[in-house]
Amino acid sequence: MALFDTEALILRSYNLAEADKIVVCLSRSAGLIRGVAKGCRKLRNRFGAALEPFTVVNLTYYEKENQELVSFRQVEILKSRFNLSSNETMLTGFSYMGDLLIDFSPPHQANDNLFRMALACFEAASETPSDLDAVLRYFEVWLLKLEGFLSDLRACANCHRAFSDEEAVYLVSDLSLRCMECSNGRGRAISKLLHAQLRTAEKLSPAKFAEGAREVSKETKREMAELTFQIIGRVLERMPRIRPAS
Ligand SMILES: [Zn+2]
Repeated sequence: MALFDTEALILRSYNLAEADKIVVCLSRSAGLIRGVAKGCRKLRNRFGAALEPFTVVNLTYYEKENQELVSFRQVEILKSRFNLSSNETMLTGFSYMGDLLIDFSPPHQANDNLFRMALACFEAASETPSDLDAVLRYFEVWLLKLEGFLSDLRACANCHRAFSDEEAVYLVSDLSLRCMECSNGRGRAISKLLHAQLRTAEKLSPAKFAEGAREVSKETKREMAELTFQIIGRVLERMPRIRPAS
């Protein structure tokens, strides 16, 4: 039995037997982990409020060989989200991000960029709740990019010519982006404004992106939400369990 120590973001938990919980979290050094927290539903327990969803914690756990479920030993709060519990919109948005992290992350595979991106998104939305929608769009773009489902935004996937700022770009059925000639008039047209927004998301932090997005038209925001939702649906081969209203 080996003992590990890592920073982690609690994503979801469900009850197990009388006093225990199974907790799903995204950890910095081991990616997605599912673990048992024994006795955590007893009135006095060593975990306290540390297993509440979206809490950032320092987690110590045991892992047995060939067992997917780890055993939580100690959980220490680094950042709690108590302020959230009364805000339904924020909770829905956070649950949506949590679900997508669970859907897209292979278990026990560390991805430091994904971990940092997720933490930054939860932080940016907590700091400025009115920016939640923009943060969700940023999160979707980066999740797709880091998991390898977002095509290069700078050049046509077929002829490799760099896109100009002025041309229309097409999302074709294999989810790659093509110029007009290479798309043969098929696929989903992506407007100049949306293309610019996507490239901006690649360059900025979620907080900075959300700040800039306040000036973006409703039309472009809607187009962005439809595009990311279409790609996510295609990758998952179903719709996400939760879809925040935007
Ligand atoms: Zn082309």
